Amino acid sequence: MATILKSIPKEANITKIDYEGPRIALYTDKPKFLMEHNDIISNLVNVIKKRIVIRTDEKIRKSEEEARKILDKSVPKEANLEATFFDTATGEVSIELKRPWLCQRNAAEFNHAEVTEQTGWKLRIKKATTNPSSTLKAINYQLKVSSAERAKQLKEIGEEIFRPRLVQKSEVSLLTLGGFGQVGRSCMLLTTADSKILIDCGVNPGARTPSESFPRLDWANISLDELDAIVIGHAHLDHTGFLPVLLKYGYRGPIYCTEPTLPMMNLIQLDAIKVAGAQGRTPMYAERDVHQIMKQAITLSYGTVTDISPDIKLVLANAGHILGSASCHFHIGNGDHNFVYSGDIKYGKSIMLESANTNFPRVETLLVESTYGAKEDIQPTREEVESAFVKSVNETLKENGKVLIPIPAVGRAQELMMVIDQYMKSGQLIESPVFMEGMIKEATAIHEAHPEYLARELRKKILETDDNPFDSEYFTNIENYDAREEPLREDSPCIIIATSGMLEGGPVLEYFRNIAPHKKNKLLFVSYQVNGTLGRRVMDGARQVSILGQNGKVEVVTINCATEKLEGFSGHSDYNQLMSYVHRLRPKLRRVLVNHGERRKSENLSAQIRRMYRVTTHYPQVQEAIKLF
Ligand SMILES: [Zn+2]
Repeated sequence: MATILKSIPKEANITKIDYEGPRIALYTDKPKFLMEHNDIISNLVNVIKKRIVIRTDEKIRKSEEEARKILDKSVPKEANLEATFFDTATGEVSIELKRPWLCQRNAAEFNHAEVTEQTGWKLRIKKATTNPSSTLKAINYQLKVSSAERAKQLKEIGEEIFRPRLVQKSEVSLLTLGGFGQVGRSCMLLTTADSKILIDCGVNPGARTPSESFPRLDWANISLDELDAIVIGHAHLDHTGFLPVLLKYGYRGPIYCTEPTLPMMNLIQLDAIKVAGAQGRTPMYAERDVHQIMKQAITLSYGTVTDISPDIKLVLANAGHILGSASCHFHIGNGDHNFVYSGDIKYGKSIMLESANTNFPRVETLLVESTYGAKEDIQPTREEVESAFVKSVNETLKENGKVLIPIPAVGRAQELMMVIDQYMKSGQLIESPVFMEGMIKEATAIHEAHPEYLARELRKKILETDDNPFDSEYFTNIENYDAREEPLREDSPCIIIATSGMLEGGPVLEYFRNIAPHKKNKLLFVSYQVNGTLGRRVMDGARQVSILGQNGKVEVVTINCATEKLEGFSGHSDYNQLMSYVHRLRPKLRRVLVNHGERRKSENLSAQIRRMYRVTTHYPQVQEAIKLF
């Protein structure tokens, strides 16, 4: 605090210094000065090695109504101000704009510092989505109703993080609680003398018994209030499905993840409640436990160094797997040890996401996934699979047929939208309407709201131009039952993308029973079909299947249409990509641990890495304690 006060000029008018979770918040009643001299803060960050945010003093914050009036006046009309959200816990106002580039920091028509000073609220410029997202709205609502509570919590979290260290020399251990020698229930505990950090907390949907389905927190023998933090790499259920249960049983500490991971996991966790109900199972947690996550989450952007406990600093980096997915870099002690958990990674670029980051300053231990860790797990490149997709869809459209693509709502659906838009615009794919139904619309809005997390060219299109592929005229969302008439009309070629991805329920079934009997149509599988699902049976060549039709009647569907499967749209690295990812990180590696794969695959990847790169490797099983340092 003394350093801060010494290095900041009087003109900055600092009125209060406080912890705000892992950051130090400087309150000022003249925000304009520090905004116009931002080198002061960046120099200070270099000196004290802690994150600093500028906050406006509560006294100068205008009422929401007044502030909104000022914003309405100051934001250029062409920017299309669509919504504002005031977060009283931080004094930030999010401004959702159709054309955000007109209000960026260097925009000529809009003076950031001036508007901040006038409203007394710190501005966050955001991209307004084509369709409103109810998940993002729900998060804003939860933030609003909990703002007093959150402000208090953030202060306490800060005091915990910056408490004095007990021990100067670090000892670091990793306890494997799930997702080792298997895919599912990813979870581990990173411990030092001073801290306990839980990383991921998933379920294993394929398992039958509780001791196989959930992370072995019982074996780790810790109570929830001993945890300093929970870090979540990405939103999929096998990494987040058990998290709401921890909140249900009283975890009240911080949850770190990227900004888009929060709404994505909310969407997936709430859907899991519905699915459980539909299958006649009792859900493990309630909606309120999912809402509680929103109140405890602290979102971090890629690349920012954040203290999460007295001796651990966290950096999240792009993992290329799904929107917001992160590899987690843990810097322990004063450089005693650096541990990177790759999470699910795609080391290869797609239209939607950049390739996984390999650029860490130092890594001694790497924990890498091995979903496709066997030697034969080789996939076509993105260019190859995209041109196969274009060829396959064109064949059917040319014959006036319909192409039905069953797809999981999150990730692949949005990538396919981007592929379709790009190839139709360039004339390589025959122009036709694209109909979408299911949770896709909601997931798409979350993607569109976070362009900073998308691949560079796509991000530029959305943030700087009116050519926004998410708003493409090719796409139509089917909102209700009656609207299905149009995609199902005879002799009108089209593409239909619907959930669920493995034909195990959802709107896709209604399209399936209409489309499958006709020879000129096509069923196109672009995502993994698990053994035993209807999707897998159809893909493997079944010509007659029974489904549960409307009114709960069993209906026999004859499949006369073409079926095709395309590999290569996966969000996981194939064997070669996993090897080159490790190679990239190699110079400073001392040890590689392998997880997130069937035992055979983890074993193979582990052996290959040891042979090729001459580092110690190990593929632990669940319930092992590994001394990292
Ligand atoms: Zn995943």
